[in-house]
Amino acid sequence: MKTVIDEIADAILDSKCNVFLTGAGISTESGVPDYRSSNNQFWGEYDSKDFYLSNFLTDGGSRMRCWRACAVFYETMKNAQPNPAHLVLAELERRKLLRGIITQNVDGLHQKAGNSKKVVIELHGTAHTISCVDCGRKYNSEGIYASISKWTSVPYCEYCQGILKPDTVFPGEPIIPNVAKRVLQMATSCKLLIVIGSSLEVQPAAYLPLKAKESGAKLGIINLTPTPYDKYADYLIYRPAGKTLAEIVKKINDQVRPPAEERMGQYGP
Ligand SMILES: [Zn+2]
Repeated sequence: MKTVIDEIADAILDSKCNVFLTGAGISTESGVPDYRSSNNQFWGEYDSKDFYLSNFLTDGGSRMRCWRACAVFYETMKNAQPNPAHLVLAELERRKLLRGIITQNVDGLHQKAGNSKKVVIELHGTAHTISCVDCGRKYNSEGIYASISKWTSVPYCEYCQGILKPDTVFPGEPIIPNVAKRVLQMATSCKLLIVIGSSLEVQPAAYLPLKAKESGAKLGIINLTPTPYDKYADYLIYRPAGKTLAEIVKKINDQVRPPAEERMGQYGP
């Protein structure tokens, strides 16, 4: 009898037009904390009000506290390494079994694992760059955080003295329209959408599974805990992402013969 792992492996092979929607749960196995998980507090220590764009832009105290929190988060994240779940998604792209990744994460671990920039859409931006809100100039986060490590002041743009802001989408801040358009297009044109490590509680990611289903796609959900969309799932797995994806790719490998040139080497012409 087929298990759900067998079924999802078959579905990935059959569809070939597979899109993955990833959330914090895929990166917790890499040691990146789920910073949206505790209601109104960031890691229970930082007040999310300091991350409201209006407070950040107008209140110097909020901006300082926000930068300090961002620095702690960046420090945890910058040395994080991709885990087996990220590596499987990179392998699926190499094998042309992955059309896109829509991620709620800002850690850049999909790209670090080897997924190409063109397939990864970062819904909530990235923690790896910082931009000037006035002139738009981009900075590498590493340099900015190093320059303000003593926290005597907040950073400003060295070209126009404008306010700098991390390129992550702050709570209440709208998703960039072009990004919103691309994810919707991706979700409504795929044949299989697999959610990994997201509780599907934060918009706009949360409505994508339904959009995909309405457009005729199959839906898979791999998450530790139930989500509001479980009833729509064709494949539902409550387990950690890394282990599960490793098992799925093993099933795929068991079914798919190696490329022709490898077969020639193995078995002769
Ligand atoms: Zn500037």
